[in-house]
Amino acid sequence: MKRTLVLKVDGENPEPEKIRLAANIIREGGLVAFPTETVYGLGADALNPKAVKEIYVAKMRPVDNPIIVHIASREEVYRLAVNVPRSVEKLIETFWPGPLTLVLKASDIVPKVTTGGLDTVAIRMPKHKVALALIRGAERPIAAPSANIAGKPSPTLAEHVIQDLYGRIDAILDAGPTNIGVESTVLDVTCNPPQILRPGGVTLEELKAILGEVSIHPAAIARGEIYIEHAKSPGMKYRHYAPKAEMLVVEGELSSVIKEIKGLAEHYLKAGKKVGILATDESMGEYNLGIVKSMGSRKNLPLVARNLFRLLREFDEEGVDIIIAEGVQQEDLGLAIMNRLRKAAGYNIIRV
Ligand code: AMP
Ligand code: MG
Repeated sequence: MKRTLVLKVDGENPEPEKIRLAANIIREGGLVAFPTETVYGLGADALNPKAVKEIYVAKMRPVDNPIIVHIASREEVYRLAVNVPRSVEKLIETFWPGPLTLVLKASDIVPKVTTGGLDTVAIRMPKHKVALALIRGAERPIAAPSANIAGKPSPTLAEHVIQDLYGRIDAILDAGPTNIGVESTVLDVTCNPPQILRPGGVTLEELKAILGEVSIHPAAIARGEIYIEHAKSPGMKYRHYAPKAEMLVVEGELSSVIKEIKGLAEHYLKAGKKVGILATDESMGEYNLGIVKSMGSRKNLPLVARNLFRLLREFDEEGVDIIIAEGVQQEDLGLAIMNRLRKAAGYNIIRV
């Protein structure tokens, strides 16, 4: 077991001595968990294959699931990638720093372990001051997947990282809750039109406004397992975001959803199960059974996204056997929220 250093750091004005310490760990090939504006990431020197390998070990991540490379200056794109299409400039100008990851053809300097053996590399410039300071301090790109054990809900608090990875990594920078709460949008720009491989913090609507045409990979909006012969983004294949409890998502018009959930809650309670209901502000007053938590108002999808993973972990801590979640509308951030909810539920979806 490693001794994991937990450092509280100011999210707005990160203390230089703490950043220096963490950056040195990265430079020496170690693992540092750090906040980004989406979720906490588990970072290593992206160009050091031995260090990146340790990420897979610590997270118990399948080795063919590539890792996003985080940078702090735009020029790095042209060092890490080749054949960069012109459309990328506009995307970078509009969305970086921010929750947009670009999949590009990888240059020779990117180790195969970082790309999961693919000939593409996923790159993003995060917006969080701590993340940017760490990358600058390390003076190298940082490979960082979400800082959780593979398959579990992503970490939006340093406490979640501690739960999953304490003793398995070298340090954790704790700057409090992350702002967006779902991961970045992964956009493949090696094809025409560009294709969303994972919906996230930058919405389809925002991308269309810049690019005109944008496609979505069928797996990103699937309501069930789909057969992916040649996974562009191997992460699509794996179970994700799953709480320990069994989980169901009920989708449809709100009044029908409420009615269905009430019936299901009663059924499971009668069967002796501890029931958690993942509701919204508009509906939570309707439920008088089980443990009810609200993700926020349906009119405030950013808030719903921010609360989602934390509430899944809270239900697990409270020893709930089954989580019944309301679906939300699939517009804007709702696309990313529904992608996470469906996957977390292992595609146990009820449509009413
Ligand atoms: P996470 O582990 O939560 O950071 O997820 C990273 C996501 O980005 C996973 O779904 C990966 O499959 C995807 N990804 C990373 N690199 C690539 C790449 N080169 N091509 C396609 N998808 C990628
Ligand atoms: Mg992840």
